Amino acid sequence: MTPSVLDAATRGAGLDRLTRFLPDAGHAYAIGRNTDHGHDQPSAVSNLSRYVRYRLVTEPDIFARVLARHPDMSAQKFLTEVFWRTYWKGWLEMRPAVWSRYLAECDRQRGALLDSRAIADAEQGMTGIDGFDHWARELVETGYLHNHARMWFASIWIFTLRLPWALGADFFLRHLIDADAASNTLSWRWVAGLHSIGKTYLATTDNIARFTNGRFAPTGLAQSAVALTEPPVEAAGGLADMVSFDANQPCLLLVTHEDLTPEQLFPGKAPIRAALIAADPDLLWGRAARQFVQAAAADTASRTAAHFNCAANVSQTLDADTLILAAQAAGVRQIITPYAPVGPVADMLARIGPMLSDNGINMVQRRRSWDSRFWPHATKGYFAFKEQLPTAFKDGQLARDGA
Ligand SMILES: Cc1cc2nc3c(=O)[nH]c(=O)nc-3n(C[C@H](O)[C@H](O)[C@H](O)COP(=O)(O)OP(=O)(O)OC[C@H]3O[C@@H](n4cnc5c(N)ncnc54)[C@H](O)[C@@H]3O)c2cc1C
Repeated sequence: MTPSVLDAATRGAGLDRLTRFLPDAGHAYAIGRNTDHGHDQPSAVSNLSRYVRYRLVTEPDIFARVLARHPDMSAQKFLTEVFWRTYWKGWLEMRPAVWSRYLAECDRQRGALLDSRAIADAEQGMTGIDGFDHWARELVETGYLHNHARMWFASIWIFTLRLPWALGADFFLRHLIDADAASNTLSWRWVAGLHSIGKTYLATTDNIARFTNGRFAPTGLAQSAVALTEPPVEAAGGLADMVSFDANQPCLLLVTHEDLTPEQLFPGKAPIRAALIAADPDLLWGRAARQFVQAAAADTASRTAAHFNCAANVSQTLDADTLILAAQAAGVRQIITPYAPVGPVADMLARIGPMLSDNGINMVQRRRSWDSRFWPHATKGYFAFKEQLPTAFKDGQLARDGA
């Protein structure tokens, strides 16, 4: 589908985009998904990622609607790609140290390469490498890149330009609207050969020329991609146990940009006195993502108010003081919130929790059943994880409520 800047940052617009894409989710996607025709051209991919990233549209939403339209499994390829997101989220969730390691590596490399001409040239699209320079500018201008372009770009960054992978991942995070701790970090690690140990992704002239319809044919690319190395990654831990919230006690609903469809997660009759939608720009990396989340927060506030029949306000700050004041104003001692996966929001909630407790306020996170069911299977590679797809198809067919 042609990406459109006119698409609003609302759940309605996301579902609408999904509905328009449905006829093409089968054969057309399977044969056309690898071709990047250019930003302004019609494309076989869905361009749903900004909605999925902030959970304005969820994986169960997609599985349910796609399977209803294609009960013959002709859209299996598309759903297999959507399931990559579930895999990456689960994989990082069980190895949070990989995220901390990435952040430390970024700081280290940034310090070492301060004022580096090579990094500036790569980010500004001034390397002279056909295609690469175009994608650098396209990313900054549109906040989006086709999946294949992301792979080519990351591969050239790492193996041809020999720049640190973590700074490439950071460049993506600062500009993608769909910037995501798990999908971005782990995809860059996958290209670099750090995910499937020793298995790298090498961008080639022929492949780029073929899948850009001849728009680009860069020369001078690395001819081999020797995997990067690092100290071993920790073994997968389990998921944190979830505590249920007290359904008899009034509460404040906190919604963060990690999950902007709380009406799927909490029952309409939950004793919610008020809701706070936190769209804190400091917990996002880039301008385009901040703009999208600002608008999405307003949409979420109106849906939340209508669904739970309560006041719902947007806050630009997520910190302990804001939550304590909001809880006191609502006259509650319990805050409930959709689970925040590994990333800045989860870090912030972990810091805030003890301060709330000191003020007699209990905060309870709730994880979606989709995540609880599939994330624990992200222990090895995607090939093994994919064995869960038949269960996901079954769940998807049942998941009319989208939780
Ligand atoms: C180096 C690199 C960095 C990336 N960074 C991000 C990121 O920060 N955020 C992000 O959401 N995706 C990221 N991706 C994955 C993928 O490129 C995008 O999700 C996809 O291009 C979005 O376009 P679409 O919605 O048209 O995808 P479609 O092909 O139409 O797929 C539908 C949905 O499935 C999910 N999906 C599909 N492929 C993948 C994948 N490989 N990994 C994870 N989810 C997937 C997305 O939610 C997507 O919206 C990255 C990939 C690479 C190679």
